Amino acid sequence: MRKEDTTSNVLVYVELADGAPVKAGLEALTPAHMLTEKNGGDVIAAVLGKGISDAAGLVAAAGADRVITVDSEELAEYDLDAYADILRQIIEKEKPDVVLLGGTGDGKDLAPKLAAIFDAAAAADVTDIKVDGEDAVFVTTEYSGAIYSDVLIEEARPGIATTRSGAFKKPECESRGSVEAADLKVSDGVVKTKVIDTVKEITEAVNLEDAEIIVSGGRGMGSKENFGLVEELAKILGGEVGATRPAIEDGWITKNHQIGQSGKVVAPKLYIAAGVSGAVQHLSGITGSDYIVAINKDEDAPIFSVANVGIVGDAMKVLPVMIEEIRKIREG
Ligand SMILES: Cc1cc2nc3c(=O)[nH]c(=O)nc-3n(C[C@H](O)[C@H](O)[C@H](O)COP(=O)(O)OP(=O)(O)OC[C@H]3O[C@@H](n4cnc5c(N)ncnc54)[C@H](O)[C@@H]3O)c2cc1C
Repeated sequence: MRKEDTTSNVLVYVELADGAPVKAGLEALTPAHMLTEKNGGDVIAAVLGKGISDAAGLVAAAGADRVITVDSEELAEYDLDAYADILRQIIEKEKPDVVLLGGTGDGKDLAPKLAAIFDAAAAADVTDIKVDGEDAVFVTTEYSGAIYSDVLIEEARPGIATTRSGAFKKPECESRGSVEAADLKVSDGVVKTKVIDTVKEITEAVNLEDAEIIVSGGRGMGSKENFGLVEELAKILGGEVGATRPAIEDGWITKNHQIGQSGKVVAPKLYIAAGVSGAVQHLSGITGSDYIVAINKDEDAPIFSVANVGIVGDAMKVLPVMIEEIRKIREG
């Protein structure tokens, strides 16, 4: 498609997990509104799967002007070819200028595939969006957030982008969009693979991306036993446990708790970091946090440059006091 063939609509693919919209998908509605507020058009959400009416209602209430659902057995499980083919059909009909996807595994899978289908271009890991005339300019980060780039997709349409988890807040919306069921089928011959067996990894469920409170521990915790203080504080606060790469390499906690460049990108309301130096590879995963509390015995530790509250001290002394005080408040 060329620019002149498109409308000012923005299409957002809102991924579902366990029948509910994922946070990153809902967050992508916010930059979509930033574009339609400037250029007009509707924010259209695409919701795909099987038995998705409740989820579609949640997306409509969360800020989409229109929600297009495709509810079918052949979409019960995520399949790249099938999902991309359905999104292609929606894009060809609605002709959005921009397509946004939350930066989840599926979003990062679909964005380049859609770009290839439309001979268009995709920007990855977008942290902000600007408008240049009628064009969207996608702000992306390079080198773990050390450099910001403005990416303008000049001609090919739609302009496709994945948004970074936590970079945008979910829209606060009072109006409710419409839900439209589309009777679309996956085209013959499109699906090239067949899933013959699925083996679920036996790991504890860790939902760091959606967590409102995260307590993280780094190498400064010193041992697996001491790391238990991080887990205890997270538990008493009703939060999740995060970790730096060294804490994982030392075997104090499993890899699915890793936060940072090669781990998860998080955006909690409260992030507590204990014994974490604040290396750029860790900071790149936490800058979307609303409020950061850092405990480090080195007053020059880089983590203090991003912390709202810094406690210079021994985490093994500070954490037990915090646990005790919070326990008193909880029980009091
Ligand atoms: C390609 C690449 C990808 C990477 N990806 C990631 C990633 O995803 N996530 C990640 O975390 N790292 C990642 N890293 C590693 C990163 O560079 C750092 O090495 C790491 O984040 C440092 O972890 P840390 O803060 O736990 O340890 P350190 O840097 O060793 O810091 C330990 C801190 O604890 C403090 N401390 C020591 N004792 C105490 C005490 N008793 N009380 C309080 N404070 C104390 C020290 O003052 C120090 O500041 C990556 C590196 C590379 C090259």
